[in-house]
Amino acid sequence: MISDKCNLCSNNIFSSYLNSDKMLRCDSCQVIFLAPEQIPHDLNNYYQNNVFYAENASKPDLVRGMVRAANFYLKIIAKQIKNPAGKLLVDVGSNYGILMEEAERVGFQTIGLEKNNILVKKGRRRGLNISTDNLTELKTLRPIDIITAMHVLEHLPDPRSFIKDAYKKLAIGGILVIGVPNVESHLARKDGLSWRYMAIEHLFYFSEKTLRSLLEAEGFEIIEIRKDGSNLEEQGIKKLLRYLVGQPILRDRFQVKSHEGRQPLLVSQTNWLKNIFKRLIIIIIKVLQREDFILITSRKKD
Ligand SMILES: [Zn+2]
Repeated sequence: MISDKCNLCSNNIFSSYLNSDKMLRCDSCQVIFLAPEQIPHDLNNYYQNNVFYAENASKPDLVRGMVRAANFYLKIIAKQIKNPAGKLLVDVGSNYGILMEEAERVGFQTIGLEKNNILVKKGRRRGLNISTDNLTELKTLRPIDIITAMHVLEHLPDPRSFIKDAYKKLAIGGILVIGVPNVESHLARKDGLSWRYMAIEHLFYFSEKTLRSLLEAEGFEIIEIRKDGSNLEEQGIKKLLRYLVGQPILRDRFQVKSHEGRQPLLVSQTNWLKNIFKRLIIIIIKVLQREDFILITSRKKD
């Protein structure tokens, strides 16, 4: 929120979300957002220099998860772009370029946009074209064929202008793929303000409905909306079981995390029985459509 109007629908009547003094919901379009006075002032600096994001990129478990997610996104993209050879893909929030590398493998040309200095350097060392520009500043020789923005939109103070920029930069018929945490997912409803994706750096909380109406209002045609459980594999059995049974958790999510003293992910000594059990839980979560994220594919209309 950069004004006293709803970023999505320009209405100016809001209610508290789940009785929180930190979260608001637009009475008209229902989008949920962090109250403006809660937004940290130094977010740019936070993203540019945050070591946590950079450290994650060197944890083998998490990298494997990101590669798996990238290939899941590419499968969705392949339904729309049959022949990627030479097509230009811009990944916003590219990290050090995991999706870019996988996309180049199937023939895309790629540009990544990333704010974190350490990740930019790391990606460039791998020979990738990563820029620190915002989408609006990015100069390309031709219109972009596909823009991906995975877990970006919820961090932006002005999601609507990002969607407008994407529209301007895309070729006619170009594809926009957006992934966000789903505030109407099973755990989001169960855990409420303690949901793991509630965070002071998440300024907006989208649902299928709010994301769809934002895109449609800005000239996109929705092609596919699907649940995305690409974070499930990286979780242990105990956490996965919470998607099926158990009490809501309670904790204060609204502090900028220092991530200091955070335990590294345990690479558990999995045995085959545990693995089968874990696979089974993930299958059930997916059958019940309880995944945390939504992925929405849309096309720029003429
Ligand atoms: Zn609204």
